[in-house]
Amino acid sequence: ANYLISRLAQGAATTPDKVFATRPGLPDVTYAALFEGAQRLAQKLTAAGLQPGDRVAVQVDKTLEAVELYLGTVLAGGIFLPLNTAYTGSEVAYFVTDATPRILVCDPGRVEELAPLAGEATVFTLDKDGAGTLMDDLPAADPAFQPVARGADDLAAILYTSGTTGRSKGAMLSHKNLASNSESLRELWRFTADDVLIHALPIFHTHGLFVATNVSLLAGASVVFLAKFDAEAILDAMPTSTALMGVPTFYTRLLDNPRLTLEQSRNMRLFISGSAPLLVDTHEKWEQRTGHRILERYGMTETNMSTSNPYDGERRAGTVGFPLPGVELRIVDDGKEVAQGEIGVIEVRGDNVFQGYWQMPEKTAEELRPDGWFITGDLATRDADGYVTIVGRAKDLIITGGFNVYPKELESLIDDIPGVLESAVIGVPHPDFGEAVVAAVVKEDPELTLEQIKAVTGRDLAKFKQPKEILFVPELPRNTMGKVQKKALRETYCDLFG
Ligand code: ATP
Ligand code: MG
Repeated sequence: ANYLISRLAQGAATTPDKVFATRPGLPDVTYAALFEGAQRLAQKLTAAGLQPGDRVAVQVDKTLEAVELYLGTVLAGGIFLPLNTAYTGSEVAYFVTDATPRILVCDPGRVEELAPLAGEATVFTLDKDGAGTLMDDLPAADPAFQPVARGADDLAAILYTSGTTGRSKGAMLSHKNLASNSESLRELWRFTADDVLIHALPIFHTHGLFVATNVSLLAGASVVFLAKFDAEAILDAMPTSTALMGVPTFYTRLLDNPRLTLEQSRNMRLFISGSAPLLVDTHEKWEQRTGHRILERYGMTETNMSTSNPYDGERRAGTVGFPLPGVELRIVDDGKEVAQGEIGVIEVRGDNVFQGYWQMPEKTAEELRPDGWFITGDLATRDADGYVTIVGRAKDLIITGGFNVYPKELESLIDDIPGVLESAVIGVPHPDFGEAVVAAVVKEDPELTLEQIKAVTGRDLAKFKQPKEILFVPELPRNTMGKVQKKALRETYCDLFG
């Protein structure tokens, strides 16, 4: 059997006529149609030479056909390798050279640019309307088709990390990694066939592809399938939907929309946030406006989801909750678990943890211990009730004059100053202190002065934490997932004290 597909298909096996996806302005797609489409694509990929274990690299807009391509690749025994649509030609060239896919599927508008980079791969196209050479002359569904047998430990996908802290790494994810995590989340978040999930996340990333899509399939639920974030479309969908999964910016943008009310969100039962920290302020404003407490969870490309706030218990703002059932979590410093309340690096172990980085055995050995513990690189604390709070990334920790400074503490303080839009706090080389604390601040109010910021940091922070330099910048450097790239900032300001 095919380990992952046999599970994902079970949600709808008894109800093939159930609608999987509704799409504004487009026909509904039933579960039967979805899996038939996936099968026909599996047949097409196999006819194009795909062998079990081959990679299918995909850089396309979000369409139902792209979801079918994901399922079809796994059905055919292949490894699905989605790429962010924002990646440029030279970025795609890196991934394709690294992953040596058998097949590359890209937008027809970019085929001339990307085909020469594709090496041995066969190239198909798929556009934003779900048309292209991939869909031309699709074979009819063969009634004798059998999913290619794949076991629990075979790879189903390689997902590249977002590249926030350095070059993206290909995380190898097995059938069991994906299936076990989706099963845990379905249970924990109570997804059933009665749910209608608003699906507005990209499907080249863990959040939209595995959390949102796999959990819905497993539950036999329906999705409102939106090609991208669209506040109006999400608000339109709320009265007939039950759940939303989003990144924090979804929630801040929806809060900016006056249509977001208690009434508009009355039918919704669950709002989930992750991928980046949700500000306590957003959490509180959301509750005031809608009566719902956002459920924040934590995960990463390498581990799928690792922690979640509870469904029934208290959803504590600013925390990412507890380890998922079946996931072990420890917070480690200097090789030892820290005492409760102390800061250390999160390590996790369980069926959710990936199989290593594609073709990077040294990197894998650095981060994945032989006994299965994965060193996430995220710093956190755990409170007396067991709630985990992320305080930043180990790579962003600043050590100045021998003292640890956690950028998030300063950023929270600075962000709260009226007139500040956002900030990023970094450490740069300093002859006396080793590293010096530097704050890059983006203004909301053009009148804001450095003195106003210094008044607050000077009042509220111990001397060693106070920035040696505060700079106004027009914007913060971000990667394609919208995450602030502190590495780039550190490079820009590396000579400040040199
Ligand atoms: P790279 O590993 O290439 O530098 P990345 O770590 O940003 O990039 P992802 O796997 O997409 O790539 O992101 C996972 C990271 O996102 C986590 O390690 C964590 O730092 C952050 N993250 C995810 N969810 C949360 C959350 N709820 N709160 C705070 N941070 C989060
Ligand atoms: Mg990472």
